[in-house]
Amino acid sequence: MKTAYLSLGSNLGDRELHLTQALQRLAAPDLIIDRLSSVYETDPRDFEAQPSFLNLVAGISTSLQPMQLLRRTTRVELALGRKRTVRNGPRTIDIDILSFGRFVIDSAPLTVPHPRLQQRRFVLEPLAELDPEWVHPVTKQSVGDLLAAVRNQGVRRLGAFKPPHD
Ligand code: ADP
Ligand code: MG
Repeated sequence: MKTAYLSLGSNLGDRELHLTQALQRLAAPDLIIDRLSSVYETDPRDFEAQPSFLNLVAGISTSLQPMQLLRRTTRVELALGRKRTVRNGPRTIDIDILSFGRFVIDSAPLTVPHPRLQQRRFVLEPLAELDPEWVHPVTKQSVGDLLAAVRNQGVRRLGAFKPPHD
């Protein structure tokens, strides 16, 4: 089993419900969700005329290979009705693989660590909460060092993730 970190974000409809449904669909005998960060509310970036996001990071243990994990996360995105319209635009759910053990992968469909991780406070803040010792396997920068460079981005910690009752 390898430890990986997944970033989940939603900014359409019932955002908490989308996070909950995504976590429920991800969990499986070969994909154990060990820990969840707090939930963070994030100002949209890149394409700003859209609702704010709820973001969290999940620490998982998995026996899947990286490409199998990407297929799994893509399947869950599609099951939750994600439509790819505007790049960086609104979405019911976005699931990104932040890191996979200490693997470094640079292939067409999958780059690990996630190529934009260091630019995104909404990813670094919950990652630092779960794993303050995390170090980028290529640049060797700690998650704390990376965070210091993005403090100006609007991210608010809302508190522990509480799945809504349905
Ligand atoms: P973004 O998450 O940057 O807003 P998308 O979710 O639309 O964009 O993802 C675009 C593509 O990024 C996916 O089709 C996937 O193949 C690719 N990708 C590359 N590396 C990763 C990764 N580490 N995690 C998730 N997707 C990745
Ligand atoms: Mg994505």
